[in-house]
Formats: sequence, structure tokens, C-alpha cells
Amino acid sequence: MTRLLIVGPPGAGKGTQAARISLLFDIPAIATGDIFRANIKNKTELGKKVSAIIDAGDFVPDSLTNELVASRLKEDDCQRGFLLDGYPRTLDQLAFLDAMLSAEGKSLDAVIQLIVDPDEVVSRLLKRAHEEGRSDDTEETIRYRQSLYQRETAPLIDVYKQRGLVIQIDALGDVEEVAGRIAESLAERGIVANTSDTATATN
Ligand code: AMP
Repeated sequence: MTRLLIVGPPGAGKGTQAARISLLFDIPAIATGDIFRANIKNKTELGKKVSAIIDAGDFVPDSLTNELVASRLKEDDCQRGFLLDGYPRTLDQLAFLDAMLSAEGKSLDAVIQLIVDPDEVVSRLLKRAHEEGRSDDTEETIRYRQSLYQRETAPLIDVYKQRGLVIQIDALGDVEEVAGRIAESLAERGIVANTSDTATATN
């Protein structure tokens, strides 16, 4: 059972690394941003509610986001553990997650913090905007999302640091290198994939 969270500023490569970790540990990667985007694409009620907020780079209200995560974590595939990506992003969400997990006697095992240079991140995101056509990846929105991250999300790291959960990873370098650093740091804490089959699936 492995319960992880990956945090870092927009463009740090969270999604890419989350996919790796998910394979390695055979746990679902739950990315609130991806869930919101899928809802927008499918024109669901939720999608209609959040589309303008996301395009502006603002945070979706905590109540909506918390509800979404609560129902996702109740699904069967999360019983073996999970990796959260992009949630919690506010202290309110952190408190909600704490309550949700502790109600079942659970807690996070580690928080992976990706460290990147802010300028490097802007150029990465502009490249992604070009490649993936993400409507919230204009330079102005990118800078806005970064400032929101610094103001609202960075303080969460202090909370998790006080709990001794934070693993800091230098996220510059190629994908494989960064993935290796993450796996190594998790292993140092005794967090390892529990079957050799899942480990080889990522090679
Ligand atoms: P991401 O793909 O993680 O960069 O998320 C894209 C956008 O989805 C963010 O800029 C927010 O508008 C919204 N979003 C994703 N996760 C959250 C969250 N935990 N709380 C509020 N808004 C979120």
C-alpha cells in the first residue's frame, strides 16, 4: 500500500513523473487537472462549471475539487494506494485530505517535491502549449499560475516537511534521470514496489 503525493510548480514535469511512479508501484495517478480537462472535453456539468476558471489559470473552488477527489479515492483501484498529482493545492484541501484519510486510519507515505528553475519552467510550458494545445498555457497564464503556486501551494510543503514526509528532487535533466532520482529517494525511505513484475514493467 503506497500513498504518495507529487508537488512542484506548473511545468516541473509532475505529470510525466507521475505516470512513471504509477507504473512502478502499480497505483493510479490521480491528477485533478486531467480530470477537470476530461470533463471540459466531454462537456459535463462539472466541465461547464470549471472551464472558464481553468482557462484563466485560477483555482477551481475547494468544495468542488474536494468532492471530486473524495469520490475518486473511493474507487476500488485506490484501495492498493495512489499517487496524487495537483491535489491538494490549498491549505483547505490539505485539511480535507487529512480528514478523509485519517477517517480510515490512513495517511500519506511521502511527498515528492520537484525542484525546478522558474525560467526553465516557462519555456517548458510554452513548448507544451505548442505541442498539446493546452488553452491555459499562454505566457500570461503560466506566470499567473506560477504566482498562485508560490502563494497558495508552496506553504503546503512546509506542513508536510514538519511531518517529515518531503523528498526533494532536482527535476532538471532528462525524464529518465529524474525518474531514477525519485525511485532512489523513495527506496531510501523503504518505499519500494512490492513485486518484481511491476518493477520490470517500467523498463
Ligand atoms: P494542472 O494540470 O495540475 O496544471 O491543473 C490545471 C488547472 O486545473 C489548474 O490551473 C487549476 O485551474 C485546476 N486545478 C487542478 N487541480 C486543482 C486543485 N487541486 N485545486 C484547484 N484547482 C485545480
